[in-house]
Amino acid sequence: MFFLQTLSLSTLIVLGVGVFGFLIYHGVSFWFISALIMLSIYSLGGSSTLLGIVFAGLLLLNLSIIRRYILSFPIYVTLKALKFLPTISQTEKEAIEAGTVWMDAELFSGYPDFKKILAQSYPRLQSEEEQFLEGPTEELCKLVKDWEVYQNRDFPQEVWDYFKKEKFFGLIIPKEYGGLGFSASGNSAIIGKLGSRSAPLGITVMVPNSLGPAELLVHYGTQAQKDYYLPRLANGEEIPCFALTEPNAGSDAGAMTSSGTVFTGEDGQPWIRLNWNKRYITLAAKATLLGLAFKLSDPDHILGEKEDIGITCALIPGSTKGVVVGRRHDPLGVPFFNCPTQGKDVEVPLSAVIGEREGLGKGWKMLMECLAAGRGISLPANCSSGAKTVARVVGAYSMIRKQFGLEIGKFEGIQEQISEISGMSYIMEAARKYTCGGIDQGAKPAVVTALAKYHFTEMFRQVITRGMDVVGGAGISLGPRNLLGHSFIASPIGVTVEGANILTRTLIIFGQGAIRCHPYILDEIHGIEDNDIARFDKGFWGHQAHIVRNLVRMTFLNLTRGFLVIPPRWDSTARYYQKLTWASAKFACYSDIALIFFGGGLKIKERVTARFGDVLSWMYLSSAVLKRFDTDGRLKEDIPLMKWSLQYAFSNMQTAFQELCSNMGLLFYISGLITRFNPLGSYPKDSLSAKVAKCIQKPGHQRDRLTEGIFLSDDLEDALGRLDHAFKVISSRQYLYKKLQVAIKKRVLTKMPIRELIDAAVKEDVLTKQEAQELVEAEDLRDDVVKVDDFSQDEYMQTSV
Ligand SMILES: Cc1cc2nc3c(=O)[nH]c(=O)nc-3n(C[C@H](O)[C@H](O)[C@H](O)COP(=O)(O)OP(=O)(O)OC[C@H]3O[C@@H](n4cnc5c(N)ncnc54)[C@H](O)[C@@H]3O)c2cc1C
Repeated sequence: MFFLQTLSLSTLIVLGVGVFGFLIYHGVSFWFISALIMLSIYSLGGSSTLLGIVFAGLLLLNLSIIRRYILSFPIYVTLKALKFLPTISQTEKEAIEAGTVWMDAELFSGYPDFKKILAQSYPRLQSEEEQFLEGPTEELCKLVKDWEVYQNRDFPQEVWDYFKKEKFFGLIIPKEYGGLGFSASGNSAIIGKLGSRSAPLGITVMVPNSLGPAELLVHYGTQAQKDYYLPRLANGEEIPCFALTEPNAGSDAGAMTSSGTVFTGEDGQPWIRLNWNKRYITLAAKATLLGLAFKLSDPDHILGEKEDIGITCALIPGSTKGVVVGRRHDPLGVPFFNCPTQGKDVEVPLSAVIGEREGLGKGWKMLMECLAAGRGISLPANCSSGAKTVARVVGAYSMIRKQFGLEIGKFEGIQEQISEISGMSYIMEAARKYTCGGIDQGAKPAVVTALAKYHFTEMFRQVITRGMDVVGGAGISLGPRNLLGHSFIASPIGVTVEGANILTRTLIIFGQGAIRCHPYILDEIHGIEDNDIARFDKGFWGHQAHIVRNLVRMTFLNLTRGFLVIPPRWDSTARYYQKLTWASAKFACYSDIALIFFGGGLKIKERVTARFGDVLSWMYLSSAVLKRFDTDGRLKEDIPLMKWSLQYAFSNMQTAFQELCSNMGLLFYISGLITRFNPLGSYPKDSLSAKVAKCIQKPGHQRDRLTEGIFLSDDLEDALGRLDHAFKVISSRQYLYKKLQVAIKKRVLTKMPIRELIDAAVKEDVLTKQEAQELVEAEDLRDDVVKVDDFSQDEYMQTSV
């Protein structure tokens, strides 16, 4: 070490920055760094006074027992007096604490461990789930004709009976209670397939298998409640619904006014008198069992000391006196049961409360915990399968429909739309499987499922809109031939339910993430709230070290553009792992600066938190894409899709970072310049987009694999079956169309309408009669696909959306 004395000052500075930067970058312990500081000063011949001062300072910083009283206490008192950290209400607290932290914490850390992410096993469906998909699910899809459901505004009785017979409402109920006991991945695959056939079908099966009586009972019910209700729910004897939303309590569901009052019944036992006014409740008019959330009070102290017991969930048989159901809303004309319900002095015994005494006042916690996992299953399943269906439809349609003498799918404008459709569909399927896999392994990742819910529904909205544009009038004209119109109409529903999207993006993803996934904030908040100085000290100093580490990492990664990061794979994905590490460090650093800058006020800076949420989301979605590419076997044919998805993700992160910098004042001015001139990425190039579009524009294994899991029909009366058949036939005869083109080029034939051209080609010996017949057949199929429905005046007057 004494050789240091021989070095010039500038060399020493460079060496110091390099060595300490390296140690800080890799998160080496502060004890080690302190020892090295001491050693360096000693080696450089520092005086004993200097050594003593530095030693005392480092000891103070390292020994929490001393630091806590000398440094942390005054800081704690100041922050508390300034109310610097956000105050959290009880309902917010329960929402924030619901679920678990999963790989979102890795992304929040600024130093994600991708080896850990890649090592997580990917879900495989159990054989029973596979059989259920191939058997009853396939059968149910065949029974349901989407257009007929819309015309009759209900399923035929045969379908309702089939739901019950095959236990479609008991997918998540454990086998010991007569259910099917399927995993999150299995549930998602089934809902997805049904949703690809018909949105009302997906929604109707999804609701009893997501947040509602069955799930609440499985987790929180008493044994007696489970034994009684779960078998009845599994076999469809009971149809459930869950009623939370009210006219004045939508997004802010905790503001509900539905009430329950404890009273002593004629049997001398505690009973509850309920009054409610709920709306938008799916299945309510069909339900025999209402799950109800209400605020419980015990003014006569029958249950104990507490008067306001809090939000509680109970199960109310639909036949109970005072329960009002029967009226319906009309959700954009999509024919599923969505209804208001009221309760007028409905009296139920205490045993109606989910969990009975244990469940009193625990309703909000129950709901938030179930939502923490559930939000990542059903809606993502519907959106992902919906996107795969759109991809399959537009891929085929764009290569069948001709305009200006060319398949429209060969025009760059259409390719742009199709690349977005197939790219987003690839991202969604990647994230669907990854998220369900995490849930199946026991995670209840509240932040990840919130961002999944938001981005899946938003991406699907984009996918279906682009799909509608590609098919033009064929998407607009409703009828049995239309494959996209109903999905387009239904797409805002997912955006609104399970936490409306604006709120989810602006308040939940980062708001919850910053507190839940941040390695230190929760300790700081709880330390202040609970007057726990030791916890505050641990959180506060850990946080400071975290900020320094990420500042060093961000600076290093900004300077090197991430090129020196060692990725877990050295192939076409390597650069993306490097960039993701860079993005994570930048995100962690910026979010800490924002937390310091705004303090508790960050809660209401929704446009700032929304953009942080966007970066976090796109980092998660990128990780899912890398994981999918890896698990699918790193297929060469999927490289364009993998690259497109990641470039799209990085361009979104870049936009969010840039917007953050431009809206956070002078503090971020320099960062804004660096971000602008040293970007993380940009939108995929046109050449890449064209390759991505082509992945679904040719029939075959890749197209089938990319759209795997949706309902496919070989029935030529079915619109998708017909389209797929025409696509295969027309594609297989391309070599005959080529013969015509060559003949035109050689001036053997002249340009004319296709059917005349085929006749002329036979006359000129360009085609044999057999070949001409094959082309006529292909043209017939093309004409058939291009056809849209029309109706007589009478028929038209009787059709509904
Ligand atoms: C078809 C359908 C089915 C449903 N099924 C059920 C069901 O089975 N059971 C049930 O209990 N409920 C159900 N709901 C209700 C659904 O959960 C609510 O619609 C949802 O919570 C939003 O409430 P709201 O519609 O009253 O919107 P509002 O709360 O009025 O919100 C309006 C807009 O304001 C935004 N917003 C609100 N607060 C903020 C904020 N702080 N920051 C930024 N933006 C904000 C929202 O994101 C939304 O965009 C269903 C709704 C629909 C439409």
